[in-house]
Amino acid sequence: MRYQDVLLHIDGTWRPAGSRREIPIVNPATEEVIGTVAHADRADLDEALAAAEKGFRAWRAIAPFDRAKLMRKAADLLRERADTIAPLMVQEQGKPLSEARGEVMTAADVIDWLADEGRRVYGRVIPARTPGVHQLSLREPVGPVAAFTPWNNPVNQVVRKVAAALATGCSIIVKGPEETPASPAHLVAAFVDAGVPAGVINLVYGIPAEISEYLIPHPVIKKISFTGSTIVGKHLAALAGQHMKRATMELGGHAPAIVFDDADVAKAAATLSALKHRNAGQVCVSPTRFLVHEQVYDEFVERFVAEAKAVKVGDGLDEGSRMGPLANARRLAAMETMVSDAVGMGATCVTGGRRIGGRGYFYEPTVITGVPRTARAMNEEPFGPLALISSFSTFEEAVAEANRLPFGLAAYAFTNSVTTSTALGEAIESGMVAINGAPLALPEVPFSGVKDSGNGSEGGTEALEGYLTIKYVTQAGA
Ligand code: NAD
Repeated sequence: MRYQDVLLHIDGTWRPAGSRREIPIVNPATEEVIGTVAHADRADLDEALAAAEKGFRAWRAIAPFDRAKLMRKAADLLRERADTIAPLMVQEQGKPLSEARGEVMTAADVIDWLADEGRRVYGRVIPARTPGVHQLSLREPVGPVAAFTPWNNPVNQVVRKVAAALATGCSIIVKGPEETPASPAHLVAAFVDAGVPAGVINLVYGIPAEISEYLIPHPVIKKISFTGSTIVGKHLAALAGQHMKRATMELGGHAPAIVFDDADVAKAAATLSALKHRNAGQVCVSPTRFLVHEQVYDEFVERFVAEAKAVKVGDGLDEGSRMGPLANARRLAAMETMVSDAVGMGATCVTGGRRIGGRGYFYEPTVITGVPRTARAMNEEPFGPLALISSFSTFEEAVAEANRLPFGLAAYAFTNSVTTSTALGEAIESGMVAINGAPLALPEVPFSGVKDSGNGSEGGTEALEGYLTIKYVTQAGA
């Protein structure tokens, strides 16, 4: 499938930017320019705002039952188009084709799940103190939403925001990822082709800071949702706070993965390798700090290194590639900086640690041991194929290291002890804890961070909360 030029979607129409400006798209496997995306300016944003205001009025007037039907139709269209969309995602983002296809199919499941949950947004009748008085707690859509999404999972990051907004009766303006714009444009097209009215979903691209600084304070926008780095998230949340706007923040992580001495070490190494190398480690819940009990440390390192060496790196479109290139040159530079910093501080690079070839942003799956706590990689999110393995001797020591950083998104652990599992569930400071390889990020479960990893859920029935306001109505007989 040839890559295509990507347009804006405003008020039901696909169109270039008013200024006709465009941004080039680069394939990270070849470093070649493969297409362009329209670059919205202020006038385009004003049209998107007017459309979102109109779209909100139209969409909230449609019964949740009928909204859900349209959303389910969009999910079916997405499934039908998965084989068209996935190769576009590979060309713009780099991940292997099977991962890209999986992302599109999961997006369809997210839409189905949230569409149905939207039909169950219940209020409450509160018993009154006085006969004849009725007290109602109603939940209403917050209004037009502005969403800002990143390049690592170009469809998944958009669908969680769009489907939650639509399920609750909100309209939305999405500022999509400029580096990976075609696959999310197809996601929006599925909703449009399913019959979602003009103005309900608007898609723009441009200069992220310019767009967020304009949309967030704008009176039409009532809520924002952002996925990306903690530093940008704090900036946008502060801006939202200044204008009293609701904000959902899905930010960075630095997931600990604790392997206890009673764990199935082979299973732990295989599962954690699969999680680490998915999307070349460019996932906010990717395991990063591997904390392994000293009794099984050598065995784990040996097994994990063998797994990492077996990962076949190549163009995501090539059959057999298990890990593609990094998505952009910034990630390549970050890997090189973090690895040389750690090695310079005395750490051992057991495998990997180098760029592969001179063309394309390919980087070796990398395992480092003996990394000082003060190394950059132990404190900043690597967002790449970098595993940092240390040993521990007590439960308390492992938990203290797991909780050391300001991040709190995902945490992993492997143990055969129910007592340890239960204690971990209580002790770990993170929004999600996965024990013995149980899955995260299903459409029906919460997906959320604590501490600097953000607030609000992007999954499960909790995902709708951020898009709803509470109205209390009390009435007495005349
Ligand atoms: P970045 O921090 O500048 O950008 C991260 C995302 O935020 C991008 O999508 C970008 O378009 C957007 N963004 C940046 N400034 C913005 C602004 N002022 N207004 C609105 N959106 C803005 O840099 P990057 O190189 O793209 O990514 C660096 C780091 O971001 C990664 O190392 C990782 O830690 C984090 N990240 C996290 C996720 C996630 O899923 N939580 C996704 C992508 C990136």
